[in-house]
Amino acid sequence: MNSPATLARDIDGKAIAATVLGEVAEQVRELTAQGIHPALAVVLVGDNPASQVYVRNKILRAGEAGIVSIERRLPSTCSQQELLEVIAMLNADPGVHGILVQLPVPAHIDEAAVIHAIDPAKDVDGFHRENVGGLVQGQDVLTPCTPSGCMRLLEETCGDLSGKHAVVIGRSNIVGKPMATLLLQAHCSVSIVHSRSVDAPALCRLADIVVVAVGKPKLIDASWLKPGAVVIDVGINRIDTPHGPKLVGDVDYNSARLVASAITPVPGGVGPMTIAYLLKNTVLAASKAPRIA
Ligand code: NAP
Repeated sequence: MNSPATLARDIDGKAIAATVLGEVAEQVRELTAQGIHPALAVVLVGDNPASQVYVRNKILRAGEAGIVSIERRLPSTCSQQELLEVIAMLNADPGVHGILVQLPVPAHIDEAAVIHAIDPAKDVDGFHRENVGGLVQGQDVLTPCTPSGCMRLLEETCGDLSGKHAVVIGRSNIVGKPMATLLLQAHCSVSIVHSRSVDAPALCRLADIVVVAVGKPKLIDASWLKPGAVVIDVGINRIDTPHGPKLVGDVDYNSARLVASAITPVPGGVGPMTIAYLLKNTVLAASKAPRIA
């Protein structure tokens, strides 16, 4: 256990995201000087309140970085065909460099069909199978934003990750699997823990680096951690407390910081990095786009 004087230090996602956004703004200036105006199209279907907040934040941050944003809102009753037509128009528009369809889409729409309708060169979420396959093969492709943001947090915290043992808890397509792939590319030894793992805490206690993306409030406490482990908490869970609703991660922060050497708080850890890497992907897509004559 850490003494009170040696509690784990916070990994400041807000500050690191601000650095990334500064890099993005610089890249936007360079592209603009060449006559390219990076543009992100955000498509929102329906009126899910959480999705509306996410979309608003993405558009706000894009504007601050000098990225043009194009918003397309469709009613929750729109057909899959109507949504696919909007995507086809954005694919064909040379002035649009990134396309993001805010998930989840309403249940009557096939999410996979929507993801795979996006031009892989404009797929700034990195969810298209062409980008997923490219990532696994180590190619230079658009990579999912949350895992990319977690990698930056780890590089800023640990420096070289080579040879470290990383445990990723969760195996979703959007976080767990790409996270494990990126850690492998950084020469970590990687284990993936999921709901069927036998004695998950024991597996986790082997890790120098723990990345948690489960969606269960405070699942991981000090008893899951090796002393000195670095902990990245991707989880965002809304819980009710006597003082009102509160956001917490998948890690019991107060318990984990007694044992870990560094940990991301929730909020203020991974969350800001996700938007920063969405915008980084947008400028990357713009820099690779065919030049308009
Ligand atoms: P998901 O698709 O629901 O996947 C959850 C994963 O956790 C699954 O692989 C599941 O295993 C595993 N799991 C469930 N219970 C477990 C247990 N007791 N022990 C070990 N593994 C267990 O979730 P997701 O989309 O990856 O999101 C995870 C969390 O991250 C959510 O809180 C979400 O809100 C948050 N999130 C945050 C950001 C951000 O920007 N900060 C971005 C994306 C997601 P099985 O595969 O065996 O079912």
